[in-house]
Amino acid sequence: MTFTRRALLAAPLLTFPAEAAAPLGIVASFSIIADLATRIGGPRVRVTPLVGPGQDAHGFEPRPSDARALAAADLVILNGRGLDAWAARLVPVKTRKVTVSNGITPLGDDPHAWQDPSNTKFYITNISDALTTADPAGADTYRANATLYLADLEKLDRHIRETYAPIPRARRKIVTSHDAFAYYGRAYGIDFLAPQGIAADSEPSAKQLATLIAQIRRDHITALFIENIGRNALLQTISRETGVRIGGQLFSDALTTKDGPAPTYLAMMRYNTATIAEALA
Ligand SMILES: [Zn+2]
Repeated sequence: MTFTRRALLAAPLLTFPAEAAAPLGIVASFSIIADLATRIGGPRVRVTPLVGPGQDAHGFEPRPSDARALAAADLVILNGRGLDAWAARLVPVKTRKVTVSNGITPLGDDPHAWQDPSNTKFYITNISDALTTADPAGADTYRANATLYLADLEKLDRHIRETYAPIPRARRKIVTSHDAFAYYGRAYGIDFLAPQGIAADSEPSAKQLATLIAQIRRDHITALFIENIGRNALLQTISRETGVRIGGQLFSDALTTKDGPAPTYLAMMRYNTATIAEALA
């Protein structure tokens, strides 16, 4: 036989061009990893996030329609590290799934690994590998898109480092509503303090809040940020108590819709960086 494995795999393409095939149906647990899957899959995939732009993935209550979407997916994309355990539980055993944070160096139980672009490289590689397994005919497309995106992540990382370079390390202290930026802080030398801890649906005690307010005063922290998710009323209380004004909004766990300032992962990271740098300058 002169047929190679490659020839056998390529043969169906002659009859069914890849362009004409129905796109791979992907369900992603939340908007940020849905964006990454869209970048890598391009027109070969159709990605649906369960938790959409501006919504909170922590403790999300899936609807019956979400369970049906997970059961019907060709591939399910999860963040892992506890953020989307509610989705992982609903994925049928036979359904293909990938946990995109696999391979990162974790910070305790913190699930917000995407806030460090060097972790997002693992997300991209995991997504590209999973797409290739689910749709081998698209392997070259997925590899090419992943290579381009990894270069974009390098560029993003350089941009963030250059932006903070003029700001002294001692000034780089920030308060946000929930603790979503520890990976970002570790990567770029910024201390983030948050009254809500790592889950946006948790509530601080009066004592924790008082400690945070005392620390803001002691350390002369000048940058308070609300988030597109989480309980911003707490931040307003802290702002009133300390006299520190709120420096803007950061996007931590969800993108905006197309008309907002953070419709993609790359736009979100650049927007947050510009907003933080401006408040610290
Ligand atoms: Zn979060």
